[in-house]
Amino acid sequence: MSQSHDNCISAISDRRILPSPQSPAPVFSWLRNRRRRKLLAAPFPAEWVGYLQTHVPHFTALDERERRRLYDDVRIFIAERHWEGCGSLKLTPEIQVAIAGQACMLTLGFDEGPELFRRAPTVLVYPAGYRAAEEQAIGDHMTLHGEAERLGEAWHRGPVVMSWEDARAGGTYAGDGHNLVFHEFAHVLDMLGGDSADGVPPLADRKMADEWRRVMERELARLHSAIRHRQRTLLDDYGAECETEFFAVATECFFDAPRDTRREYPELYDLLRRIYRQDPAARLERPEAKASAQSGPGTG
Ligand SMILES: [Zn+2]
Repeated sequence: MSQSHDNCISAISDRRILPSPQSPAPVFSWLRNRRRRKLLAAPFPAEWVGYLQTHVPHFTALDERERRRLYDDVRIFIAERHWEGCGSLKLTPEIQVAIAGQACMLTLGFDEGPELFRRAPTVLVYPAGYRAAEEQAIGDHMTLHGEAERLGEAWHRGPVVMSWEDARAGGTYAGDGHNLVFHEFAHVLDMLGGDSADGVPPLADRKMADEWRRVMERELARLHSAIRHRQRTLLDDYGAECETEFFAVATECFFDAPRDTRREYPELYDLLRRIYRQDPAARLERPEAKASAQSGPGTG
């Protein structure tokens, strides 16, 4: 995440095809499905709707079918994860719904829904930015041990860690292209197909992945050039760190500021629209979305 030195994972994975969801053992699958049916049979808590309106960028632009789908996904996402408040943070339903709601926006276009986050079984939440041990290689033989300030990080088959202050800000200030939750869970999706993230998520077929790599390399070069010339861009400078960070930063813009992203990076937007199987800019332009946006947060 920008300003934060999150975990940049840049190893190359050669698996590009979306793996079919792991088939759990029949007994486990039966139990899980029974648990889910019970969970979703209860009405979605009214106060949770308020949390989604407050904390999920462009929630008010969702149509009725999408909202109902998000209600289900949020409950499954929360129930099937281990959550922990770190530092002095006391975890509340509002925090869980805010994070789950934002994360599940990324997978709204997929039948698998939050199942695509299965490799992130744990969410750790700090009240604000936190310090973490960090090692930095110096040359071939030396390692510098120290601490770094972080806002969030995503570990392969491990926890997603984030600052609540910044996760909350991402929902409150929708439309600026910055969103910590989108960023970290984009890393989780990127790591879905292999042992590491490489900026080419296994959500696309091979042809689309090749197209994405071509466009990403061009836009990365543009971003490097803009940074050299001290030009401000919608894509955060942090996206220039590596392909992995570029995908996460582009995902932030795509979901948080979709119309600006479409206008400034049309080819990038079109590929992300195909990769994520949803069109957030078009969603904002539906007449009913425009009407509800008058009272909702964010533009984009
Ligand atoms: Zn990152």
